[in-house]
Amino acid sequence: TTETELAPLEFSVTKNLAARSGAQRDEALANPGFGTIFTDHMVDICWSARGGWHRPRVQPYGPISLDPAAAVLHYGQEIFEGIKAYRHADGSIHTFRPDQNAARLQRSARRMALPELPAEYFIQSLRELIAVDGAWVPSGEDQSLYLRPFMFAKEAFLGVRPAQKVAYYVIASPAGSYFKGGVKPVRIWLSETHARAGRGGTGAAKTGGNYASSLLPQAEAYDKGCDQVVFLDQDGNVEELGGMNVVFVFKDGRIVTPESDSILEGITRNSLLQLAEDRGHTVERRPVSLQEWRDGVASGDIIEVFACGTAAVVTPIGALVTAGYEDVQPLGDLALSLREELTDIQYGRATDKHNWLYRL
Ligand code: PMP
Repeated sequence: TTETELAPLEFSVTKNLAARSGAQRDEALANPGFGTIFTDHMVDICWSARGGWHRPRVQPYGPISLDPAAAVLHYGQEIFEGIKAYRHADGSIHTFRPDQNAARLQRSARRMALPELPAEYFIQSLRELIAVDGAWVPSGEDQSLYLRPFMFAKEAFLGVRPAQKVAYYVIASPAGSYFKGGVKPVRIWLSETHARAGRGGTGAAKTGGNYASSLLPQAEAYDKGCDQVVFLDQDGNVEELGGMNVVFVFKDGRIVTPESDSILEGITRNSLLQLAEDRGHTVERRPVSLQEWRDGVASGDIIEVFACGTAAVVTPIGALVTAGYEDVQPLGDLALSLREELTDIQYGRATDKHNWLYRL
């Protein structure tokens, strides 16, 4: 970060001549699902060790050409973000706390030896994409346009060292309501044989390898009739799900969430905890052992457990399952009430008292 404000980048814009028609777009937006439909354009910015950030472009969405020796394909030097754009009733388009995603992308970049994209450029990259593809932000209930900024090592070099050529892109994908027919509590599989991250590893960075390592335990979870997997650290403390943070609600009003340098700091979690503090709850960020979780549920001290993240916002946890036991989890009202308060802000139905919204 610099003290003087950065001048905006000058993007070149190449319109997609094969962009879909309004009717085709409306059909796609009627039932977008998640992550399979993409808008007509994408943003990209190049970086090189010698030239810094350069050649900012908006161009037609399409395949990327890469040298087969590009470092990302061999050593996984890659980071990404996930953030949504919401359409308000008056038609305007807003995103939520992009400064936080920009800062997290910078933290991920530091850990993965990638260049830090200035926050101004990050936010501008979202605006540039919305300027051409704003019509892709759906207006249905709980719908949004999921924005996926990502950065990878594109230098063609097989030596193991930080790449000197890097690409940053933003693509966008309309997203439907995550839960058709209402929010349902999920069954969580406790992975005892696989870890997501280790002490000093890359768990706090949003980098592809963390997600690759979660795929096998996630498949195991499905196999056991569960929806998601929860990971522990080497000391038996609860970390997070494959793509969501975990929050515990106690009978005395305390809200506790794991603190560790190997979990991803969720922006949804931070926001929900802020809203809970506004309501008078005490929030504790500290290690939570599996034993404390199980004992708390057994004694009735823990009255609710939920998971949270950008995609699904808030999901109550209905059961904790592993080989040998299944703990039914108590269900309360706080998770859903915080979910409603947060989504009311995101969709412009409630006052944005913390100034979290950025108009795109
Ligand atoms: N943990 C992991 C591993 C994730 O991938 C995500 C999704 N980004 C989260 C937590 C939740 O983060 P956020 O609320 O910022 O989406």
